[in-house]
Amino acid sequence: MTGLAERLRRSLAFEGPMPLSRFLALAMAERSAGYYTTRDPLGAAGDFTTAPEISQCFGELVGAALAQAWLDRGAPAPVRLVELGPGRGTLLLDAFRATQRVADFHRAIELHLVEASPVLRALQAERLAAFAPRFHDRLETVPEGRPLLLIANEFFDVLPIRQFVRTADGWRERLVAADEHGRLGFVLAPHALSLPELGTDLREGTVVELSPARAALACEIGRRIAAAGGLALLVDYAKVGAVGDSLQAVRGHRRADPLEEPGNVDLSSRVDFDALARAARAQGAAVFGPIGQGAFLERLGIRARLARLAAGRPEPVARALAAGVRRLVDPEEMGTLFRVLAVTRSGEPVPPGFEPQELAA
Ligand code: SAH
Repeated sequence: MTGLAERLRRSLAFEGPMPLSRFLALAMAERSAGYYTTRDPLGAAGDFTTAPEISQCFGELVGAALAQAWLDRGAPAPVRLVELGPGRGTLLLDAFRATQRVADFHRAIELHLVEASPVLRALQAERLAAFAPRFHDRLETVPEGRPLLLIANEFFDVLPIRQFVRTADGWRERLVAADEHGRLGFVLAPHALSLPELGTDLREGTVVELSPARAALACEIGRRIAAAGGLALLVDYAKVGAVGDSLQAVRGHRRADPLEEPGNVDLSSRVDFDALARAARAQGAAVFGPIGQGAFLERLGIRARLARLAAGRPEPVARALAAGVRRLVDPEEMGTLFRVLAVTRSGEPVPPGFEPQELAA
């Protein structure tokens, strides 16, 4: 039993059942024993992998898109480049290598990283030392007043959600509880809520997911960009709307029980991009998409990039490069399940990889 599990049990015995969002916040980001605060989950012996770790083309094309957006906005200097949850720093390393020759871009960058994990901070500080990154626990402490270039890949999916289940008398929140043996399990809140905005025609047993944490972050991004301009690219495993139980636990690249060994299992859930778009737009920002990750990368030229990378390389290397790209863009793999939302200031140029008609109305 982990120390965190023991603390959770004591807290549940004393306070009673807790919302899923509180359980997730503790399991994932608790300071001394949370999943992300204690490890590098992406390393060779890790639990899961991500687009920048699968193919260098991902970070390269995101870098090119951000540099283009910077040029399109008149090459402001300084410009704040922010990554939320940079993981191993791979995306930015690839992005910086791909944009070396964009005159003055690197010199204009002030790099800010929002990262909860001391383990990953150390790795990011080392790998991105040339840009002297400043670290933050939250976006809120990044200074304001300059244009913002922001990237978040697989960050929103780890922020906590709440779940509500449709019952005969209304919506009941799904809570985490401990039984008399200390085993964790799900229970429904004793009181039902009426949540008319979720619709009244959903069948009993339907689960909806709401995330105040994600909405608050999307508001903050929208507010900053509406005020100072720039571009945010939010990339994540998506769901359509709020309906559906998408909580997923992964350990060692396999599915696990979400309540087993809190702090040692990766817990994530799919992102409702409509909710993010609404939040950012409510702050006056312009929002494009979401579009599929495959379409986004194809438009940015991933095929041409792959051809250049693979040219003249030994056959097995060329095949591995192509396999990585296929994983990112194929509709059967990450191409449509992962989606990209762009947040910008209204009146600014259309973000690279998007079409004018993809401006959300
Ligand atoms: N973007 C990277 C890593 C994704 S994993 C990639 O694509 O490879 C999620 C990242 O967010 C990790 O760096 C993790 O440590 C960080 N993270 C998770 N929860 C966080 C929180 N609440 N605050 C700040 N960073 C967090």
